[in-house]
Amino acid sequence: MEKPLVDRNTTLRRVAETLQWDLAVIGGGATGLGIAVDAASRGYRTILLEQHDFAKGTSSRSTKLVHGGVRYLAMGDIRLVYDALHERGILFRNAPHLAHAQSFIIPCYSFFSKCKYLIGLKIYDWLAGKYRIGKSSALSREETLRSLPGVKSARLQGGVRYFDGQFDDARMAVNLAQTAAVHGAAVLNYCQVTELSKDAAGKVTGLTFVDRETGTSYPVTAKAVINATGVFVDDILTMDTPNHKVMVRPSQGTHLVVDRTFLGERDALMIPKTSDGRVLFGVPWHNYLLLGTTDTPIKDTHIEPVPLDDEIAFILKTAADYLSPAPRKSDIRSMFAGLRPLAAPDDGEEATKEISRDHKLIVNPSGLITITGGKWTTYRKMAEETIDRAIETGALEKRACLTKTLKIQGHCTQQQAGHWASYGSDAGRVRALTVSQPDLAERLHPDFDYIGAEVVWAVVNEMARTLEDVLARRLRVLFLDAAKSMEMAPKVVALMAKQLNKNREWENQQLQAYRLIARQYLPEENLDT
Ligand SMILES: Cc1cc2nc3c(=O)[nH]c(=O)nc-3n(C[C@H](O)[C@H](O)[C@H](O)COP(=O)(O)OP(=O)(O)OC[C@H]3O[C@@H](n4cnc5c(N)ncnc54)[C@H](O)[C@@H]3O)c2cc1C
Repeated sequence: MEKPLVDRNTTLRRVAETLQWDLAVIGGGATGLGIAVDAASRGYRTILLEQHDFAKGTSSRSTKLVHGGVRYLAMGDIRLVYDALHERGILFRNAPHLAHAQSFIIPCYSFFSKCKYLIGLKIYDWLAGKYRIGKSSALSREETLRSLPGVKSARLQGGVRYFDGQFDDARMAVNLAQTAAVHGAAVLNYCQVTELSKDAAGKVTGLTFVDRETGTSYPVTAKAVINATGVFVDDILTMDTPNHKVMVRPSQGTHLVVDRTFLGERDALMIPKTSDGRVLFGVPWHNYLLLGTTDTPIKDTHIEPVPLDDEIAFILKTAADYLSPAPRKSDIRSMFAGLRPLAAPDDGEEATKEISRDHKLIVNPSGLITITGGKWTTYRKMAEETIDRAIETGALEKRACLTKTLKIQGHCTQQQAGHWASYGSDAGRVRALTVSQPDLAERLHPDFDYIGAEVVWAVVNEMARTLEDVLARRLRVLFLDAAKSMEMAPKVVALMAKQLNKNREWENQQLQAYRLIARQYLPEENLDT
């Protein structure tokens, strides 16, 4: 039998036997996983601990754009846009199976706005340099309506088309975990860091984590400890220094998912200025349309944030200004919220939409390294900077970063058809499971192409431990259509139970827990009680 790409039990045994690590990374979202890939590929002994599943936090809840950020260009943050556009190019090269060029159209209702956006987007193209993925152009009224048949036609002058990237965030996280493991890192989900350990001089020397499946505690000794816990960085900073200065201002962003027919087939909609001064996207995603997002300051951080009524109303209202017919609340197939780990500005006064999306890297007097803010798009660069800093802090042997050209697991330049694309070069191995077990070729739901073999693959090679791990972050169906994901759940949990050697009681617990979560992905009135 082939060696699994990641294996939880083997990794835990290795952790129990390892006396000293070079780097311990806390947090298995974009930031932590990127750091683990960077560190492991440079040859450092690396361990990464995630308290839930990989990307359970913000990193599965993004707009799924690999972008420079047209909005930040308008705000004059040229360096951020330049860096992000270059990182976009690197991500396209290193993970071509997960990212693709997406055409966006800004509908324009005056000649002046058409000229303004065209000039701005030409600058955007120019900033991308050799990493440009398409050429911005002006569209006539007829061309705009042909591309976006759902857009309101009254007083429409035309549009401006530009190109950015789209990717699958949670699948990228899983591939990063695999890439880190393939390069020798120990990566573990459902392992929560509960304590930092220090020497007599007050320097951080490691941490303790608890395996949440068994309750077993493990001590870890490491030359450098990195806090990459997104909106939770302040909890880890409190373990280091009670009463420390707050580092993160969380801001919630909500997305609604509706049928793709509300917009059109291939092109995405970009609304450059909403009533609250932000941008709103309508992006085709699988056979659905992703609408979002919002920017709502939030006091309490939660791993499963819930879309607020005001946010839902705002997105529907903004969409209704541009789309006809407009989606209504009853058309929502799924909705999800994520928390941006915005680096708190020093004066603390700006509205969250004005806080820079750049990242912030700090080292405490104890040596604890904390990185937060930033974007999925810039995860690689953030990781490079963090490891460069950790080399100094942990007095590690200096080694060059390799991730600019490092292929991410699944790397494949020949695109697979349909949803198989996101498995890249692993698609054949997933399908091969049906040779010895033909029943695994059965579809999990009549409206989706997903088959049983993908569930087995997710358990064996992607460290999926719960029903939610599979339906939310391996198959993405919870984020696409929550009601149908609940219909699919019994088949998926039965396959998982067989693979994980679990009994009927476990299956029932999983189904119950999943139902509770999935219900939050639908407005109450859309629930079939
Ligand atoms: C609505 C929205 C839309 C966005 N859209 C885009 C986009 O289109 N493109 C883009 O480039 N960026 C986008 N972003 C930004 C991007 O998603 C985030 O910058 C990124 O996902 C943050 O990743 P992270 O790893 O820092 O945080 P997270 O993904 O939250 O990861 C932190 C992890 O740390 C874990 N953790 C916390 N405490 C502990 C502990 N004690 N022990 C172990 N683990 C712990 C958590 O469980 C969590 O999984 C968007 C963000 C939001 C909110």
